[in-house]
Amino acid sequence: MTKWILKCMTCGEERIFEAGFNLTIFGSKIYLYCKKCKANRDQLIMGCVDDTCPTVKVDVID
Ligand SMILES: [Zn+2]
Repeated sequence: MTKWILKCMTCGEERIFEAGFNLTIFGSKIYLYCKKCKANRDQLIMGCVDDTCPTVKVDVID
């Protein structure tokens, strides 16, 4: 399992999402449920927290 850092593009909430596959195959974002929005929202894939994670190329916009 890889722990990915996701950020909701609607409310900005960041969270950890565990997945057994490389999320970046979907691109730089993924459509998932956001607890704060209580709805499915685009989640920006910020990177992952493991050393062994696949290389993620994400432009972080602050
Ligand atoms: Zn949200």
